[in-house]
Amino acid sequence: MIIRKGYKYRFKANSGRDRQFGRFCGHCRFVWNKALALQLARLESRTPLLSYQDLAGLLRLWKQSEEYGFLREAHSQALQQVLRDLDRALWDGLKKAKGMPRFRKKGRQDSFRYPQGFKINGSRIYLPKIGWVGFRQSRDILGEPKNATVSRRGRHWFVSIQTEREVSEPEHTSSAAAGIDLGVSRFATLSDGTVYEPLNSFRRLENKLAREQRRLSRKQKFSGNWRKQKEKITRLHVRIADARQDYLHKASSEISKNHAIIVMEDLRVKNMSASAKGTIENPGSRVRQKAGLNKAILDQGWYEFRRQLAYKLAWAGGVLELVPPHHTSQTCPACDGLSPGNRRSQAVFRCQSCGYENHADLVGALNILRRAGHARIACGDTGLAGGQAQEPSRQAA
Ligand SMILES: [Zn+2]
Repeated sequence: MIIRKGYKYRFKANSGRDRQFGRFCGHCRFVWNKALALQLARLESRTPLLSYQDLAGLLRLWKQSEEYGFLREAHSQALQQVLRDLDRALWDGLKKAKGMPRFRKKGRQDSFRYPQGFKINGSRIYLPKIGWVGFRQSRDILGEPKNATVSRRGRHWFVSIQTEREVSEPEHTSSAAAGIDLGVSRFATLSDGTVYEPLNSFRRLENKLAREQRRLSRKQKFSGNWRKQKEKITRLHVRIADARQDYLHKASSEISKNHAIIVMEDLRVKNMSASAKGTIENPGSRVRQKAGLNKAILDQGWYEFRRQLAYKLAWAGGVLELVPPHHTSQTCPACDGLSPGNRRSQAVFRCQSCGYENHADLVGALNILRRAGHARIACGDTGLAGGQAQEPSRQAA
């Protein structure tokens, strides 16, 4: 099995070099936008698109020209990488696999990538046309580095290094299986009784964020104070995203280490968050109430949590199974009695036929685990979600 893993480190600050990073991002953005404009014009006039080789040829001409000669400053391979990315993005867009690529704006997704030519030595990386740069190494790099991306987040610059490593198929050290019920008042409840509480600091930080955003709206746009306030807000966004990610990683690592099989409901997170809007005919009667619930769902990153569990279990030789959601909160795990009356409240489950009583989330987790067994016997379809041996890099906030 090949494990692909991304490592992200923060560069040590150096104002001169940070400016150089910024300029290189600008060159890449320039190439992207210029090539995209050319291709869109061809689509408009129904002329065949230029191939990657055509674009790379144009890039060589641009670099030789007086007008665009500044592009020589950047590493050729990083610029060619932009054209490769654009080529893929265009075809994905045309095949409707994704949206059409857009023009890039300064300060948004500032980054450039080296497909090769970089070297790593301890906590320093050699970047062609830039030189050796030190970063804060928080963990060792495992595997063979495949590419390196420099990107900005808030005020800081980061390097992401993608690696590949061949490992033998792992065998999980535990043979335990557990069901997980995801909830709002408790983030996750395991069928063995483990509870992960929601991270309330998000709410606190978010209130702060709302306050700062109101403050921003009162300031003169593009003034010095406005810019300062804007920066403050960016930092808050980063803090919220980091806190959430840390929490999810801690929980998913712990769970995947202690269990070989994890069963979860196949919640359509996207649908759940869209449903509150309703339609014109049926404008969604509980819009406000649902909006709050949806916010909490997205807040706690259920989708991200599931993604992390899937790949971490796969790495450890375990597996994540998904079962369709179905009456998990109303069925009695002791006698199988099904009644809406079993669910006394958000927290209390009490069976009307046999009197079994427990926390409703724990009952949910037990039922989810039982469901996986049934599903396997009934139709042989376990809805496996494991096998993804990749840690896709996180989107910058
Ligand atoms: Zn019962």
